[in-house]
This record gives sequence, C-alpha cells and structure tokens, in this order.
Amino acid sequence: MPHMGPHGIKGAIMKDAPMKKFTSMGVGGEAAFLCCPANEADLTRMVSWLRKKRLPLRFLGNGTNVIVAEGGLGMGVVRLTAMHGFRARRTSSGALVEAGGGASLKSVIGKCAVRGLSGLESLFGIPGTIGGALKMNAGSFGASISDCLVSVRVMNEAGKTARVGRREIEFGYRTSSFSDGECILKGTFALREADPGIIRAEMERVWKERLAKHPMDMPSAGSIFKNRNGEPCWRSIDRAGMRGFRIGNAAVSEKHPNFIVNLGGASAFEVKRLIETVKQRVAEATGVALEEEVELWGFHG
Ligand SMILES: Cc1cc2nc3c(=O)[nH]c(=O)nc-3n(C[C@H](O)[C@H](O)[C@H](O)COP(=O)(O)OP(=O)(O)OC[C@H]3O[C@@H](n4cnc5c(N)ncnc54)[C@H](O)[C@@H]3O)c2cc1C
Repeated sequence: MPHMGPHGIKGAIMKDAPMKKFTSMGVGGEAAFLCCPANEADLTRMVSWLRKKRLPLRFLGNGTNVIVAEGGLGMGVVRLTAMHGFRARRTSSGALVEAGGGASLKSVIGKCAVRGLSGLESLFGIPGTIGGALKMNAGSFGASISDCLVSVRVMNEAGKTARVGRREIEFGYRTSSFSDGECILKGTFALREADPGIIRAEMERVWKERLAKHPMDMPSAGSIFKNRNGEPCWRSIDRAGMRGFRIGNAAVSEKHPNFIVNLGGASAFEVKRLIETVKQRVAEATGVALEEEVELWGFHG
C-alpha cells in the first residue's frame, strides 16, 4: 500500500472511505479521507495533515447518530474509536473514572460495573462512544451522560488541548456547547461505590426494556427526531399514520415509529426522503414541527 498521510503515524488513513461501513444506518457515500488515530500524537498529526490539504473535517465515534449523504463527504473524517483508554482512581466515596473519547459506552459501563462503580449504568445499550455521547448529551431512562461528568479534555480547533470543567460546558436535551471543530479526547466522571450485582441488575433492566421497545435487530440511527417538552414524538408520528411507512428500503419502524430502519440496501436518498415525508405528514396531521435529533452530513437542501 502506498504511504499515505504524515510520517510516523500508527493509525490508519483510508482514502475514499465508504461511510456506510462506519455509520450504524449503513447508508451514504465515501469520505475523501477517514483517519483513525491510535493516540493523541497521531490525532494532532492527522488533523494538521488534513488542514494542510484545506479539507474540512469532522470527528466521528461509532457513527450511531450520523446519516451520510449518497454523494459522500468532501472532507476528512477523524474516527476516534481507537482512543479508548480507561482509568479509575479511587476517592473516598467511589472513583474518578477517566475514559477516552473513543471508548464505547458499553465497555466503560462494563468496566465500571466490575469495579462496583455506579452512575452511568442507565445509559447501557446506547451504542455510542464517550465523545459522541458527550457531544450529543446522550441519555436514557432519566439519566444523561453529563449527570456525573466532572471534566473533559478537549483539543480545540487550533490544535491546543485543555481541560474543561463541567460548569464551563452547557448541556441541554441532546445538545452540548462543544463546537464541531473541537475534539473530545477524554471524559472524567465521578462515580459512587455500589454493589456490582445491583449495577448489573440495572444494566439488564434497561437492556431488556430497549429490546422490548426498540428495533435493535435492524440498522438505524436511533431516534430520528427530538421529543418536545417531554412529549414523545413517536405519538405524533403514529397519529399521522406513519408507522411502518416505507420509501424504498427505508421504513418507519413498526416497533418504534421514531426509528427509521434500513430494511437492507436502503440508500441515503430514501432515508432522507422518508425523514422529509414524516416531517411533512406530522405537521399536516398534528401541527407539530419535528426537529431532527440525528445529524445529516453532506446533504444539501
Ligand atoms: C439503536 C440505537 C439506540 C440509540 N439509543 C439512544 C438513546 O437511548 N439515547 C441517546 O441519547 N442516543 C441514542 N442513540 C443515538 C446515539 O447512539 C447517541 O447519540 C451516541 O451518543 C452517539 O455516539 P457516537 O459515538 O456513535 O457518535 P457519532 O454518531 O459518531 O457522532 C455524533 C456527534 O458527536 C460528534 N463526535 C463523536 N465523537 C466525538 C469526539 N470524540 N469529539 C468531538 N465530537 C465527537 C460527531 O462529530 C457528531 O457531531 C441510539 C442510536 C442507535 C443506533
């Protein structure tokens, strides 16, 4: 393979990377470059290499909240999943847990459970990374990732790294104040000591509830739209008669109407058209203006 990218890097750089392989919806075209840094030094080199090429760039975790357009992305995508360090430092009441921005929530919560550290287990089953979850302020079953956050280590757009305290970050419902040019390198969480059996039981409870309610066996990007004022938007979608509605191989899930599922070989065009159609029909039938929770990358108009 010809040498690509800056010298001395450990991670991989892929040219014309098929984004359907790196996003859970499984649709979309190619990214000009997909860079997978193995560590912080790699990240710095890859980011400045992409900037020298004058390519815009975006950071990616597990790609479970992103839908990429059919035409692909004329940009560099930096995928953080290899940066998954974990460290727990005991405190009087529990521990300070540091987790890499690319670590999956699943692995972090699993490691905390083994150590009897409680606080994140209600998020078990969200298929994202620490970085993606912090950017989205991911949450479930009444808890959000920001609840037990102490600080974040961030690399800003100028390539400088800094520790940012919880109070300096604004979190809202599935939003945070991190900019698209900032890279979340690490999150530190204050967790409480608890019985590992009780933590495991909560993980099992939330997992079972997910299996019962969500179409976990089909490719999707999770909830497509944001709930409004605590009102679940699947009700409006249902009221508009859109449950099971299909465009090509993209369908509104029969099981949970706020999920769009890829029935196999769906295109990004179909997914996008289905999103637009649901919004239009819901507005007509209920007057509710749905707003996307998922991020649409590379779509124009
Ligand atoms: C089956 C299923 C169930 C889901 N259930 C839930 C749920 O219950 N609750 C919920 O909140 N979400 C849920 N989601 C959505 C999704 O899993 C979350 O939003 C998750 O936090 C996204 O993490 P990710 O690593 O996949 O991020 P990505 O999709 O890769 O990226 C999402 C955003 O974060 C940014 N980002 C990612 N990593 C970094 C980083 N290191 N630094 C800076 N920015 C970064 C990206 O640029 C993008 O803006 C679900 C998704 C699926 C497919």
